[in-house]
Amino acid sequence: MRPKKIARAAGTGASVPVECCQVCGHAPLDDVLSLGYMPPVNQMVPIGQVPRQQPWFPTELLHCRNCDLVQLGLAVDPVVIFPPEYPYTSGTTKLLRDNFADLQHESTTMLSLSKEDMVIDVGSNDGTLLSNFKNAGLRVLGIEPTDVGDIASERGIPTIKRYLGPEVAREVKREHGPASLVTAANCFAHIEDVHAIVDAIVEMLKPGGVFISESHYLIGLLDTLQYDTVYHEHLRYYSVASLKHLLEMHDLEVFHARSIPSHGGSIRVYAARRGTYSVHETVRQMISAEPHGEAMVKRLISFRRDVVLSKLRLLSMLSNLKENGAHIVGISAPSRASTLINYVGLDEGIIDYVCEVPGSLKIGKYMPGTRIPVVDEARLFADQPDCAVIFSWHIADELAPKLKSKGFRGQLITPLPVPRVL
Ligand SMILES: [Zn+2]
Repeated sequence: MRPKKIARAAGTGASVPVECCQVCGHAPLDDVLSLGYMPPVNQMVPIGQVPRQQPWFPTELLHCRNCDLVQLGLAVDPVVIFPPEYPYTSGTTKLLRDNFADLQHESTTMLSLSKEDMVIDVGSNDGTLLSNFKNAGLRVLGIEPTDVGDIASERGIPTIKRYLGPEVAREVKREHGPASLVTAANCFAHIEDVHAIVDAIVEMLKPGGVFISESHYLIGLLDTLQYDTVYHEHLRYYSVASLKHLLEMHDLEVFHARSIPSHGGSIRVYAARRGTYSVHETVRQMISAEPHGEAMVKRLISFRRDVVLSKLRLLSMLSNLKENGAHIVGISAPSRASTLINYVGLDEGIIDYVCEVPGSLKIGKYMPGTRIPVVDEARLFADQPDCAVIFSWHIADELAPKLKSKGFRGQLITPLPVPRVL
């Protein structure tokens, strides 16, 4: 059953609590973990500006016992979460570029796509995903409501700068014809009314068309303690089973699923109208490896305990360093750094500053909710602080050798899943 009440925060300028499961409507939802109140991760105050009042939103994870979806307990107006200056572009991360090239290669082979086929990307960002299909000679269309869509248009990727809804879907189908493939990468968890989006996607698909979604993976999040990826733009945390449940409500059958490395662990899931494709063994394999029902409840309880312990361990490690007079800084300021810093309670007395690579729009601002300044990475090599905490720890293997080869001589620390010195 679809939810009777959808938590719609869009247009409120504020937030609305999630009172029933966003997918199946079940209520009440069970508490998993509270990270306390958090500032919006993309509202960063310029250095030197007098502190003013800012919104802080409760950040709670809830679990649906009926469909096993893990979800945020609060929907915040997208205007608050994605301000117009929202700096996120997928093309700047090598891992994401490689992943989208892989997606194009894999899907073209598996679905035998050819030059007559049309590919639509929902939440197409700067057009990085679609550029792979365009270069292969396919017809492409992006749907991206934010200004980042202009970058895609300039690159020659036709982009509709609107929110996807039933009307836009009908218009797209009328003007461009139905799509052989619709993709949604890392935006499928962000949209308030997920059923309306799936309806719109089904509307745009031709009868044998395929929908591929990529989402951050709940099981990976639990296994590697990535509570720091919990922030208000991520409304839902899917397992393959909960995603399958959602898509089946729209008569879509999941026929292939696999893990991919994006964002510290994601899933790529293929779906089509029932009976179009034979279902790969991968679907059963992935679902049978996931906890369900009571096993999921137990898994979430141990996750909560481990998150709390990880906070205390990190604080204890930093406390020992500080007792010995160490200077500690941070490396990189992704959105997830805001959750970690605010949940653990780090401030400018503990972390002197956070470094970003030259050109980052975050330089010259404070980390959300704190007075920790974000500075150019050059400062790290000039100051040589005693240690640096890598906030984008999920790519520490890539970052650490770079920092060392550029001349950093201090200790490097990864805060999660267990705080440790590299
Ligand atoms: Zn549910």
